[in-house]
Amino acid sequence: MNYTIHIANATDHFVGLTAQIETLGAPLLQLQLPAWRPGRYELSNFAKNIRKLNITDSKGVPLEFNKISKDCWEVNCLNQTEIVLRYEYYANQPDAGACFVSEHLLYVNPVHCFMYAVGREAESFSVQLDVPMHWQIACQLPAKNHKLQAQNFDQLADSPFFASPNLVHHSFLLNQTTIHFWFEGGVVADIALLAEQTRKYALVQTEIFGELPLAHYHFLYLLLPNTYRHGVEHADSTVIAMGPAAAINEPAFYNDFLAISSHELFHLWNIKRMRPAEMLPYDFTKENYSRLGYIYEGITTYYGDLTLLRSGVWDFETYAKSLAGDLERHYNNLGRFNYSLTASSFDTWLDGYVAGVKGRKVSIYIEGLIAAWVADIAILVRTNGASRLDDVLRRMYQDSYQLGLGYSQEIYKNLLESVSGVNFDSYFEEIIEGAGHWEKYIQKTLEHIGLELIIREKEDGILSCEIKKKQEINELQNSLFEYWIK
Ligand SMILES: [Zn+2]
Repeated sequence: MNYTIHIANATDHFVGLTAQIETLGAPLLQLQLPAWRPGRYELSNFAKNIRKLNITDSKGVPLEFNKISKDCWEVNCLNQTEIVLRYEYYANQPDAGACFVSEHLLYVNPVHCFMYAVGREAESFSVQLDVPMHWQIACQLPAKNHKLQAQNFDQLADSPFFASPNLVHHSFLLNQTTIHFWFEGGVVADIALLAEQTRKYALVQTEIFGELPLAHYHFLYLLLPNTYRHGVEHADSTVIAMGPAAAINEPAFYNDFLAISSHELFHLWNIKRMRPAEMLPYDFTKENYSRLGYIYEGITTYYGDLTLLRSGVWDFETYAKSLAGDLERHYNNLGRFNYSLTASSFDTWLDGYVAGVKGRKVSIYIEGLIAAWVADIAILVRTNGASRLDDVLRRMYQDSYQLGLGYSQEIYKNLLESVSGVNFDSYFEEIIEGAGHWEKYIQKTLEHIGLELIIREKEDGILSCEIKKKQEINELQNSLFEYWIK
């Protein structure tokens, strides 16, 4: 399938798409637009952004077509060898997962606005970017003369791109992999430092999974004038939208910039390759329910920050502040008494990306992080520092992704038990599938590594958390702490 994309109206923010599709002799073709995008597990109904759809034969004669669902069109193409599809897509959402077009930027997440012929998702796609030749293109797909090539729809859908005359590009080599930074809208002051820090945490993450399975990885940074924080993972890239751009070199902002970058990189293994069986492959037309968000988001949130600490990019004080912030969100959410992690994961399709009704649910990110931390320390304790959650992840990666399979909760639980040598029944009953039993697990986890959590109540009733190393800790606590941060 061959697409061309151009800026149709920069002021009103529309991109124009044209697709030439061979009919392969079929009398009817169904053209499907995705209803959601991987990384955000809720329906987004992208079809509402489409206007001026028309379908003709190769000579421009209109063909009859009908909508058969909210985002699927059926075309009568009897006696045609090729049809031509034209439409415009509203691109005015400058975040990490959508599309935005202006006079000097064509930024597209193809999962929003490219259709596929139903049953022919495995066919290759080409996308010609009709922008001035001096513009640069940032994308994980190979590009030649502004033409991107994808092997199938899954790969196209997973490959966001920036096209702009203002892109700032840097790259460095990490083992056999070239790591690219693309900046639009601003740039960090010290690129050499960023490269060195990225190298450090990427190496720790690579050791956890045992390989860095790609030749190129691209960080696409969209720096915005307004306050913003959003990242979305892809197989060989990430888009990170942050602002205000003017604050990027301030320590707090820059640390957060590193944290989100580390989180998204970790996803290249955890969800983009190693994935729950129920999401393999993705079905773009409807909800892809999974109860395992605590693995693909929770573990990723835990390791995003932890690998910054373990690689020496962050000191313990910076890490402890971030962990205390996560615990603060947990302790201020009364939903922890009422709803489990697995149920909250299933319900991301219902209200996963809004605060939701007070006290209803928990977060696969925050409570998922705490669950991962509790498991990591439990394994360290049981094995005297010989094993940890890293070993579970590496084996799960080998036993699922590397064999072309998805994973299940049962596989994860079995690996936790075989790596630690102990039973994880109560952990799954109370933490993963239960609600309200967290306190004792958190206290035990802190105690094992010689930390203390100070919870204060502010005037408005909101709790604030602080994590400190205890003044006096025994040798065992000290050695487990050292294992944990190495
Ligand atoms: Zn994530």
